Amino acid sequence: MTSRVTYREKPLALVVDDDALLRLSMCAAMTKAGFESIEAESGPQAIELFQRIKPDLILLDVIMPEMDGFEACAAIRRLRGGKYVQILMVTGLDDTLSIERAFEAGANDFVSKPINWTKLGHRGKYMTRAGRAFQELNRSRLRLAKTQELAKLGNWELDPDGNIFRCSAEALRLLGINEGDREIPFRDFFQSVVAQERDTVIEHIESAIKSSKPFSVNYRVILADKTRRHILNRGELFYNENGDVEEVLGAVQDVTQLKNAEEEIRLRAFFDGLTGLANRMLFMERLDREILTSKRHKRSFALLFLDLDQFKRVNDTFGHHVGDLLLKNVSGTLKKCTRSSDSATGPVTDDSEMLIARLGGDEFILLLSDIREPENAAIVARRIIHEIPILHDLEGHRVSITTSIGISIYPADGEDAEMLMKHADSAMYHAKESGRNNYQFFKESLNIATLERFSLEQDIKHAVQNKEFVLYYQPQVDLSSREIVGAEALIRWMHPQKGMILPDDFLHLAEESGLIIEINKWVVQTACQQNEKWRKAFPAPVKIAVNLSGYRFANQNIVEIISDALSDADMDVANLEVEITENTLMQNDKKTIGVLKQMKELKLRIALDDFGTGYSSLSYLTSFPVDIIKIDRSFVMGSMMSENNRIIIKAIVAMGHSLGMTVVAEGIESEEQFELLKGYGVDEAQGFYFSPPVAEDTFLKFLQSGKL
Ligand code: C2E
Ligand code: CA
Ligand code: CA
Repeated sequence: MTSRVTYREKPLALVVDDDALLRLSMCAAMTKAGFESIEAESGPQAIELFQRIKPDLILLDVIMPEMDGFEACAAIRRLRGGKYVQILMVTGLDDTLSIERAFEAGANDFVSKPINWTKLGHRGKYMTRAGRAFQELNRSRLRLAKTQELAKLGNWELDPDGNIFRCSAEALRLLGINEGDREIPFRDFFQSVVAQERDTVIEHIESAIKSSKPFSVNYRVILADKTRRHILNRGELFYNENGDVEEVLGAVQDVTQLKNAEEEIRLRAFFDGLTGLANRMLFMERLDREILTSKRHKRSFALLFLDLDQFKRVNDTFGHHVGDLLLKNVSGTLKKCTRSSDSATGPVTDDSEMLIARLGGDEFILLLSDIREPENAAIVARRIIHEIPILHDLEGHRVSITTSIGISIYPADGEDAEMLMKHADSAMYHAKESGRNNYQFFKESLNIATLERFSLEQDIKHAVQNKEFVLYYQPQVDLSSREIVGAEALIRWMHPQKGMILPDDFLHLAEESGLIIEINKWVVQTACQQNEKWRKAFPAPVKIAVNLSGYRFANQNIVEIISDALSDADMDVANLEVEITENTLMQNDKKTIGVLKQMKELKLRIALDDFGTGYSSLSYLTSFPVDIIKIDRSFVMGSMMSENNRIIIKAIVAMGHSLGMTVVAEGIESEEQFELLKGYGVDEAQGFYFSPPVAEDTFLKFLQSGKL
């Protein structure tokens, strides 16, 4: 910081002359003008005195032995504090050369001999005053610069024509512009602004100046060392007495800290302090965005509105502190339930994303984006309802709570945020009315559909243990001999209340809940045991084909299960076939291919099921180890009608045979179809024409009688 300046009561003049008489006269003149004075008789002495005493004014004779006045003047200027002292040269001659030399050496003024003593005193007084003013100005300039530096503030000026531009050193420092080139054109003042903003910023400021308006712009700059700063640049117009714009005065300020603080506040404003979940504000923002993206991509999403049942009672009984702890626990549970990878029941949808927010009090809301069907929302709701009621141990109080959930679906239940929120809310009330601890869709029809589905899903869990599954067998017939050569095992669910349920009505549920893995295992084991029973009762070998679901095909340990089942039943692998669909093959990852290879190592026969319904590409038949092609029944059913289907069937047969595969036709329902397919060279077939899938004992009778 600059020190406070204290001035002498009387200014001090240093009179330097080798002529003692002249010194005396000069001192007298200065005393008369109100100065104190001291004397030096040579340059070196003057320098020495200056350093000790720091006079306000030096009267310096030019012609002196040893060191002349010019030299002494220059030397003093170089000394500490020598910049601001007023130096008056006393020249012997009034010649221009010495005047020039005097100014060059740094003198402020000169007088020539013979000296007018009165004038000399006045001049000295005037110079001292000017010197002090100059010094004062200089100090305040320094002070300003220092203050600006502290305030991270810089200033600039521009004439209204935009030609003359000046700015402070601090301004340049803030903007990271090399301080060396202080004289820069106005536009260069923006050289460090981030590229995306630069043109807009300059345009904005220039147009404000053109239309004589004050302005205030925020922008970011990047310094050479990659530091980023937020800059606020403000400009005001400075008018002269005639009312014309005389100058544009501007200030640049480093507002980085402010901006960071703002960001921090903004973040805090978006999250709930108690649970750390998003708050209503952030949620609404995200909801609006979700509506836009879902609209664009024609996607569906769900809102789950959640309210804890009788939360008020917890608060009233145990106090707010315990209530708060419970809310924290619940939010933890919600996070857990919505992290699909953690859940035992597998992902809800493959690419769905969830946002959980606390709306306030005991109300929470969930956004489940990109759902394929409303049931996905129901799965999450069920998970939550299942997880939340666990007993919470809150500082010694054991508290249990349940929740009611209302669900609305975009776009079916509303196309804007307000409508969707309202409908989810009213569905939530409906859930409360229907006995709490449950969920309700806004649309009644969805409630019924998902409820049925839910109870089925629950039932599947017990079906395996309760031995409710059975296998039916559909005979496979050799077309040329019309003999039974094998059977396809097809699962049936004997539901205690609903009767027999066909696989198409429950297998997708089993897949979603992951139970399919257990079911597959059961099918393989049962089929192998069955085959063994037939072998004992019937001499000729009968093949048995099992369907393997493609769901997580590579993660089922299926090969191990099969080889265990084979050895448990002591069955020959030559009699077992597995049927997989084109879609399974197309999960063309390394793992799938690995599983197929392992199957081939077991010498297991692989049939490609429903051929023609998926990618219908014959070309990939060559790249997979497939032994049998099963032409999908949709071709067979239409084969009498459509020329096209016949061409396809012929092509499949030709292709399959050329690759050494057996071609099987599914869904033969009539004599005509039978004849036609036989004519095309199809090897084997199955269908209602021969027999529908039948129970095991019926199938054994077929085998024994040799008749269908
Ligand atoms: P899929 O493998 O194509 O099985 C043939 C389906 O066609 C069976 O239906 C069978 O009853 C039916 N079908 C047989 N002949 C005819 C006919 O002449 N006309 C008509 N219209 N249909 C006929 P099902 O038993 O309802 O099985 C449906 C699907 O469920 C099966 O299609 C298969 O993909 C799957 N599936 C069946 N059992 C199992 C199983 O044990 N495990 C696995 N993972 N999937 C199975
Ligand atoms: Ca099949
Ligand atoms: Ca099939």
